[in-house]
Amino acid sequence: MKPCKIITRRKSNRIYVGKVPIGDNAPISVQSMTNTKTENFLETIKQILDLKKVGVDIVRVSIPNLESVESFKKIRKETNIPLIADIHFDYRLALKAMEYGADCLRINPGNIGNQKRISEIINVAKDKNIPIRIGVNSGSLEKDILNKYRTPTPDALVESAIRHIEYFDSLNFDKFKVSVKASNVFLAIESYEKLAQKITQPLHIGITEAGGLRSGTVKSSIGISYLLLKGIGDTIRISLAANPIEEVKVAYDILKTLSIRSRGINFIACPTCSRQEFDVINTVNQLEKKLEDISTPIDVSIIGCIVNGIGEAKLATLGLTGGYKKSTLYKNGIRQKNKIKNDEIIEQMEIQIRKLIK
Ligand code: SF4
Repeated sequence: MKPCKIITRRKSNRIYVGKVPIGDNAPISVQSMTNTKTENFLETIKQILDLKKVGVDIVRVSIPNLESVESFKKIRKETNIPLIADIHFDYRLALKAMEYGADCLRINPGNIGNQKRISEIINVAKDKNIPIRIGVNSGSLEKDILNKYRTPTPDALVESAIRHIEYFDSLNFDKFKVSVKASNVFLAIESYEKLAQKITQPLHIGITEAGGLRSGTVKSSIGISYLLLKGIGDTIRISLAANPIEEVKVAYDILKTLSIRSRGINFIACPTCSRQEFDVINTVNQLEKKLEDISTPIDVSIIGCIVNGIGEAKLATLGLTGGYKKSTLYKNGIRQKNKIKNDEIIEQMEIQIRKLIK
Protein backbone atom coordinates (compact mmCIF):
# COMPACT_ATOMS: atom_id res chain seq x y z
CA MET A 1 0.00 0.00 0.00
CA LYS A 2 1.62 3.25 -1.08
CA PRO A 3 1.25 6.39 1.05
CA CYS A 4 -1.28 8.67 -0.60
CA LYS A 5 0.02 11.68 1.29
CA ILE A 6 3.29 12.49 2.97
CA ILE A 7 2.52 13.55 6.50
CA THR A 8 5.04 15.79 8.22
CA ARG A 9 4.93 14.87 11.86
CA ARG A 10 5.16 17.51 14.54
CA LYS A 11 8.57 17.50 16.18
CA SER A 12 8.43 15.97 19.62
CA ASN A 13 10.73 14.55 22.29
CA ARG A 14 10.98 10.83 22.72
CA ILE A 15 10.01 8.79 25.74
CA TYR A 16 9.83 5.02 26.15
CA VAL A 17 7.00 3.03 27.67
CA GLY A 18 8.84 -0.19 28.37
CA LYS A 19 10.60 -0.77 25.07
CA VAL A 20 8.01 1.07 22.99
CA PRO A 21 9.30 4.43 21.72
CA ILE A 22 6.86 7.33 21.67
CA GLY A 23 7.57 10.62 19.92
CA ASP A 24 10.38 11.90 17.70
CA ASN A 25 9.00 10.14 14.62
CA ALA A 26 8.69 6.72 16.27
CA PRO A 27 5.92 4.58 14.72
CA ILE A 28 2.58 5.67 16.10
CA SER A 29 1.88 3.15 18.82
CA VAL A 30 -1.51 1.60 19.49
CA GLN A 31 -2.83 1.46 23.03
CA SER A 32 -5.87 -0.05 24.62
CA MET A 33 -7.17 -0.52 28.12
CA THR A 34 -8.47 -3.61 29.89
CA ASN A 35 -12.10 -3.48 31.00
CA THR A 36 -12.05 -6.49 33.29
CA LYS A 37 -12.00 -6.13 37.06
CA THR A 38 -8.28 -5.70 37.68
CA GLU A 39 -8.70 -7.66 40.91
CA ASN A 40 -9.55 -10.64 38.72
CA PHE A 41 -6.01 -11.13 37.51
CA LEU A 42 -6.69 -14.29 35.49
CA GLU A 43 -9.37 -12.61 33.42
CA THR A 44 -7.26 -9.47 33.05
CA ILE A 45 -4.20 -11.44 31.93
CA LYS A 46 -6.38 -13.26 29.38
CA GLN A 47 -7.64 -9.98 27.99
CA ILE A 48 -4.11 -8.59 27.76
CA LEU A 49 -3.03 -11.68 25.81
CA ASP A 50 -6.05 -11.32 23.51
CA LEU A 51 -5.11 -7.68 22.90
CA LYS A 52 -1.56 -8.73 22.12
CA LYS A 53 -2.80 -11.15 19.46
CA VAL A 54 -4.41 -8.30 17.53
CA GLY A 55 -1.31 -6.12 17.76
CA VAL A 56 -1.66 -3.82 20.75
CA ASP A 57 1.65 -2.12 21.66
CA ILE A 58 0.82 -0.91 25.17
CA VAL A 59 -1.98 -1.85 27.58
CA ARG A 60 -3.41 0.38 30.30
CA VAL A 61 -4.85 -1.20 33.42
CA SER A 62 -6.96 0.73 35.92
CA ILE A 63 -5.91 0.58 39.57
CA PRO A 64 -8.85 1.81 41.65
CA ASN A 65 -7.92 0.27 45.01
CA LEU A 66 -5.37 -1.66 47.04
CA GLU A 67 -6.69 -5.04 45.97
CA SER A 68 -6.28 -4.13 42.31
CA VAL A 69 -2.71 -2.92 42.76
CA GLU A 70 -1.83 -6.26 44.39
CA SER A 71 -3.45 -7.99 41.43
CA PHE A 72 -1.44 -5.71 39.11
CA LYS A 73 1.73 -7.14 40.64
CA LYS A 74 0.72 -10.63 39.47
CA ILE A 75 -0.44 -9.35 36.07
CA ARG A 76 2.93 -7.68 35.59
CA LYS A 77 4.75 -10.92 36.34
CA GLU A 78 2.66 -12.95 33.89
CA THR A 79 2.78 -10.58 30.90
CA ASN A 80 5.60 -9.02 28.93
CA ILE A 81 3.74 -6.22 27.18
CA PRO A 82 4.33 -2.63 28.41
CA LEU A 83 1.73 -1.83 31.06
CA ILE A 84 0.43 1.57 32.11
CA ALA A 85 -1.11 1.88 35.56
CA ASP A 86 -4.11 4.20 35.49
CA ILE A 87 -4.40 6.03 38.79
CA HIS A 88 -6.94 8.51 40.07
CA PHE A 89 -7.24 10.12 43.50
CA ASP A 90 -4.88 7.97 45.59
CA TYR A 91 -1.18 8.73 45.07
CA ARG A 92 -0.19 5.70 47.18
CA LEU A 93 -1.54 3.42 44.46
CA ALA A 94 0.79 5.13 41.98
CA LEU A 95 3.77 4.49 44.27
CA LYS A 96 2.80 0.83 44.65
CA ALA A 97 2.20 0.36 40.92
CA MET A 98 5.70 1.69 40.19
CA GLU A 99 7.14 -0.62 42.82
CA TYR A 100 5.35 -3.53 41.12
CA GLY A 101 6.78 -2.84 37.68
CA ALA A 102 4.46 -0.42 35.86
CA ASP A 103 6.10 0.86 32.67
CA CYS A 104 4.20 4.13 32.79
CA LEU A 105 1.63 5.90 34.93
CA ARG A 106 -1.43 7.72 33.74
CA ILE A 107 -2.49 10.30 36.25
CA ASN A 108 -4.76 13.27 36.18
CA PRO A 109 -2.73 15.53 38.47
CA GLY A 110 -5.90 17.55 39.11
CA ASN A 111 -7.41 14.76 41.17
CA ILE A 112 -4.28 13.45 42.90
CA GLY A 113 -4.47 16.15 45.55
CA ASN A 114 -1.74 18.50 46.65
CA GLN A 115 1.55 19.05 44.86
CA LYS A 116 3.52 17.29 47.59
CA ARG A 117 1.85 14.02 46.59
CA ILE A 118 2.56 14.60 42.94
CA SER A 119 6.18 15.37 43.72
CA GLU A 120 6.45 12.09 45.66
CA ILE A 121 5.20 10.25 42.58
CA ILE A 122 7.66 12.11 40.37
CA ASN A 123 10.63 11.38 42.63
CA VAL A 124 9.99 7.65 42.35
CA ALA A 125 9.30 7.91 38.62
CA LYS A 126 12.66 9.67 38.19
CA ASP A 127 14.49 7.03 40.22
CA LYS A 128 12.94 4.19 38.25
CA ASN A 129 12.95 5.98 34.90
CA ILE A 130 9.18 5.55 34.52
CA PRO A 131 7.30 7.99 32.27
CA ILE A 132 3.97 9.54 33.14
CA ARG A 133 1.03 10.62 31.05
CA ILE A 134 -0.62 13.82 32.11
CA GLY A 135 -4.17 12.97 31.16
CA VAL A 136 -6.39 16.04 31.04
CA ASN A 137 -10.01 15.23 30.38
CA SER A 138 -12.90 17.60 29.66
CA GLY A 139 -14.98 15.70 32.21
CA SER A 140 -12.61 16.21 35.13
CA LEU A 141 -11.12 19.69 34.89
CA GLU A 142 -9.98 21.44 38.07
CA LYS A 143 -12.68 23.51 39.74
CA ASP A 144 -10.91 26.87 39.43
CA ILE A 145 -10.36 26.36 35.70
CA LEU A 146 -13.99 25.38 35.21
CA ASN A 147 -15.08 28.45 37.17
CA LYS A 148 -12.87 30.64 34.98
CA TYR A 149 -14.08 29.26 31.65
CA ARG A 150 -17.57 28.17 32.84
CA THR A 151 -17.47 25.16 30.55
CA PRO A 152 -14.71 22.94 29.16
CA THR A 153 -13.15 24.85 26.26
CA PRO A 154 -9.92 24.24 24.34
CA ASP A 155 -8.24 27.02 26.34
CA ALA A 156 -9.45 25.46 29.59
CA LEU A 157 -8.05 22.03 28.69
CA VAL A 158 -4.75 23.52 27.54
CA GLU A 159 -4.47 25.70 30.67
CA SER A 160 -4.94 22.62 32.83
CA ALA A 161 -2.28 20.71 30.87
CA ILE A 162 0.20 23.61 30.97
CA ARG A 163 -0.29 23.99 34.72
CA HIS A 164 0.78 20.39 35.26
CA ILE A 165 3.54 20.57 32.70
CA GLU A 166 5.02 23.61 34.43
CA TYR A 167 4.93 21.78 37.71
CA PHE A 168 6.65 18.76 36.16
CA ASP A 169 9.22 21.18 34.66
CA SER A 170 9.84 22.76 38.06
CA LEU A 171 10.75 19.31 39.34
CA ASN A 172 13.05 18.71 36.36
CA PHE A 173 10.94 15.81 35.15
CA ASP A 174 10.64 15.56 31.38
CA LYS A 175 9.66 11.95 30.76
CA PHE A 176 6.03 12.57 30.16
CA LYS A 177 3.42 12.65 27.44
CA VAL A 178 0.21 14.60 27.48
CA SER A 179 -3.39 14.16 26.42
CA VAL A 180 -6.24 16.67 26.34
CA LYS A 181 -9.21 14.47 25.62
CA ALA A 182 -12.85 15.35 25.16
CA SER A 183 -15.84 13.40 23.95
CA ASN A 184 -16.70 16.27 21.65
CA VAL A 185 -14.62 15.86 18.50
CA PHE A 186 -14.25 19.60 17.83
CA LEU A 187 -13.25 20.34 21.42
CA ALA A 188 -10.64 17.58 21.36
CA ILE A 189 -9.23 18.64 17.99
CA GLU A 190 -8.89 22.30 18.92
CA SER A 191 -7.38 21.47 22.29
CA TYR A 192 -4.73 19.22 20.74
CA GLU A 193 -3.97 21.77 18.03
CA LYS A 194 -3.44 24.50 20.61
CA LEU A 195 -1.35 22.32 22.88
CA ALA A 196 0.77 21.05 19.98
CA GLN A 197 1.89 24.64 19.34
CA LYS A 198 3.03 25.12 22.92
CA ILE A 199 4.97 22.00 23.91
CA THR A 200 7.37 19.46 22.46
CA GLN A 201 6.35 16.51 24.60
CA PRO A 202 4.77 13.51 22.84
CA LEU A 203 1.00 13.64 22.54
CA HIS A 204 -1.31 10.74 23.30
CA ILE A 205 -4.40 11.38 21.20
CA GLY A 206 -7.92 10.08 21.42
CA ILE A 207 -11.56 11.02 21.62
CA THR A 208 -12.61 10.07 25.11
CA GLU A 209 -15.83 8.23 25.87
CA ALA A 210 -16.51 8.19 22.15
CA GLY A 211 -19.48 5.82 22.39
CA GLY A 212 -20.40 2.33 21.24
CA LEU A 213 -18.72 0.32 18.52
CA ARG A 214 -20.25 2.10 15.52
CA SER A 215 -20.66 5.67 16.76
CA GLY A 216 -17.39 5.59 18.71
CA THR A 217 -15.52 4.33 15.68
CA VAL A 218 -16.92 7.13 13.53
CA LYS A 219 -16.12 9.86 16.10
CA SER A 220 -12.66 8.50 16.79
CA SER A 221 -11.86 8.11 13.11
CA ILE A 222 -12.84 11.68 12.35
CA GLY A 223 -11.01 13.23 15.31
CA ILE A 224 -7.88 11.11 15.28
CA SER A 225 -7.49 11.10 11.49
CA TYR A 226 -7.80 14.88 11.35
CA LEU A 227 -5.04 15.26 13.92
CA LEU A 228 -2.79 12.61 12.39
CA LEU A 229 -3.09 14.17 8.95
CA LYS A 230 -1.88 17.42 10.51
CA GLY A 231 1.10 15.56 11.97
CA ILE A 232 -0.23 15.70 15.53
CA GLY A 233 -0.15 12.58 17.67
CA ASP A 234 2.49 10.07 18.76
CA THR A 235 0.38 7.32 20.28
CA ILE A 236 -3.34 6.60 19.95
CA ARG A 237 -6.13 4.99 21.86
CA ILE A 238 -9.61 4.44 20.50
CA SER A 239 -12.06 4.67 23.35
CA LEU A 240 -15.07 2.43 22.74
CA ALA A 241 -17.86 1.06 24.89
CA ALA A 242 -17.05 -2.35 23.39
CA ASN A 243 -14.58 -5.18 23.65
CA PRO A 244 -11.13 -3.48 23.74
CA ILE A 245 -9.99 -5.80 20.96
CA GLU A 246 -12.20 -3.69 18.69
CA GLU A 247 -10.29 -0.58 19.81
CA VAL A 248 -7.05 -2.05 18.53
CA LYS A 249 -8.61 -3.17 15.24
CA VAL A 250 -10.11 0.27 14.66
CA ALA A 251 -6.79 1.94 15.53
CA TYR A 252 -4.97 -0.14 12.91
CA ASP A 253 -7.70 0.47 10.38
CA ILE A 254 -7.22 4.23 10.84
CA LEU A 255 -3.44 3.97 10.58
CA LYS A 256 -3.74 1.67 7.53
CA THR A 257 -6.19 3.97 5.80
CA LEU A 258 -3.87 6.93 6.29
CA SER A 259 -0.90 4.82 5.12
CA ILE A 260 0.85 5.61 8.40
CA ARG A 261 1.34 2.14 9.76
CA SER A 262 0.21 -1.17 8.37
CA ARG A 263 -0.62 -4.37 10.13
CA GLY A 264 -2.44 -7.40 8.79
CA ILE A 265 -4.71 -7.65 5.82
CA ASN A 266 -6.19 -4.64 4.15
CA PHE A 267 -9.38 -6.06 2.65
CA ILE A 268 -10.82 -4.35 -0.38
CA ALA A 269 -14.38 -5.56 -0.90
CA CYS A 270 -17.34 -4.36 -2.92
CA PRO A 271 -20.66 -3.56 -1.22
CA THR A 272 -22.33 -6.24 -3.40
CA CYS A 273 -25.39 -6.07 -5.63
CA SER A 274 -27.42 -8.50 -7.67
CA ARG A 275 -24.46 -9.05 -10.01
CA GLN A 276 -22.37 -10.73 -7.32
CA GLU A 277 -21.42 -14.29 -8.24
CA PHE A 278 -20.74 -15.43 -4.64
CA ASP A 279 -21.60 -14.19 -1.15
CA VAL A 280 -19.00 -11.42 -0.78
CA ILE A 281 -20.15 -10.17 2.63
CA ASN A 282 -20.01 -13.58 4.28
CA THR A 283 -16.67 -14.33 2.62
CA VAL A 284 -15.03 -11.12 3.86
CA ASN A 285 -16.48 -11.45 7.38
CA GLN A 286 -15.26 -15.03 7.67
CA LEU A 287 -11.81 -14.32 6.26
CA GLU A 288 -11.37 -11.28 8.54
CA LYS A 289 -12.06 -13.51 11.54
CA LYS A 290 -9.97 -16.47 10.41
CA LEU A 291 -6.96 -14.33 9.52
CA GLU A 292 -6.87 -12.03 12.56
CA ASP A 293 -3.54 -13.50 13.61
CA ILE A 294 -1.75 -12.26 10.48
CA SER A 295 0.38 -9.20 11.09
CA THR A 296 2.10 -9.00 7.67
CA PRO A 297 0.59 -6.10 5.76
CA ILE A 298 -0.97 -7.19 2.46
CA ASP A 299 -3.83 -5.98 0.27
CA VAL A 300 -6.49 -8.54 -0.60
CA SER A 301 -9.42 -7.68 -2.86
CA ILE A 302 -12.64 -9.70 -2.76
CA ILE A 303 -14.99 -8.43 -5.44
CA GLY A 304 -18.28 -9.97 -6.51
CA CYS A 305 -18.08 -9.63 -10.31
CA ILE A 306 -15.99 -8.45 -13.23
CA VAL A 307 -17.38 -4.89 -13.20
CA ASN A 308 -14.78 -3.72 -10.68
CA GLY A 309 -13.16 -7.05 -9.83
CA ILE A 310 -10.39 -7.15 -12.42
CA GLY A 311 -9.25 -3.56 -11.82
CA GLU A 312 -9.08 -4.03 -8.05
CA ALA A 313 -7.46 -7.47 -8.32
CA LYS A 314 -4.66 -6.05 -10.46
CA LEU A 315 -3.79 -3.50 -7.76
CA ALA A 316 -3.89 -5.92 -4.82
CA THR A 317 -1.35 -8.48 -3.66
CA LEU A 318 -4.07 -11.10 -3.97
CA GLY A 319 -7.35 -10.46 -5.74
CA LEU A 320 -10.47 -12.44 -6.38
CA THR A 321 -12.99 -11.55 -9.08
CA GLY A 322 -16.35 -13.28 -8.98
CA GLY A 323 -17.31 -15.38 -11.99
CA TYR A 324 -20.09 -17.82 -12.87
CA LYS A 325 -19.60 -20.91 -10.65
CA LYS A 326 -15.82 -20.26 -10.54
CA SER A 327 -13.93 -17.09 -9.64
CA THR A 328 -10.63 -15.81 -10.94
CA LEU A 329 -7.59 -15.35 -8.73
CA TYR A 330 -4.88 -12.74 -9.29
CA LYS A 331 -1.49 -12.78 -7.60
CA ASN A 332 0.49 -9.56 -7.71
CA GLY A 333 -1.72 -8.43 -10.56
CA ILE A 334 -1.27 -11.59 -12.66
CA ARG A 335 -4.29 -13.73 -13.52
CA GLN A 336 -3.89 -17.34 -12.37
CA LYS A 337 -4.91 -20.19 -14.65
CA ASN A 338 -6.64 -22.23 -11.99
CA LYS A 339 -9.97 -20.76 -10.98
CA ILE A 340 -11.53 -21.22 -7.54
CA LYS A 341 -14.91 -22.94 -7.22
CA ASN A 342 -17.35 -20.43 -5.70
CA ASP A 343 -18.33 -22.81 -2.91
CA GLU A 344 -14.67 -23.23 -1.89
CA ILE A 345 -13.66 -19.56 -1.87
CA ILE A 346 -13.27 -19.10 1.90
CA GLU A 347 -11.01 -22.10 2.48
CA GLN A 348 -9.02 -21.59 -0.74
CA MET A 349 -8.44 -17.89 -0.08
CA GLU A 350 -7.27 -18.66 3.45
CA ILE A 351 -4.76 -21.18 2.03
CA GLN A 352 -3.56 -18.72 -0.62
CA ILE A 353 -3.13 -15.86 1.85
CA ARG A 354 -1.25 -17.98 4.37
CA LYS A 355 1.03 -19.29 1.57
CA LEU A 356 1.81 -15.73 0.54
CA ILE A 357 2.97 -14.57 3.96
CA LYS A 358 5.18 -17.59 4.68
FE1 SF4 B 1 -22.04 -5.37 -7.82
FE2 SF4 B 1 -19.95 -6.22 -9.20
FE3 SF4 B 1 -19.99 -3.72 -8.21
FE4 SF4 B 1 -19.72 -5.80 -6.61
S1 SF4 B 1 -18.29 -5.15 -8.21
S2 SF4 B 1 -21.09 -4.08 -6.30
S3 SF4 B 1 -21.00 -7.31 -7.57
S4 SF4 B 1 -21.31 -4.54 -9.77
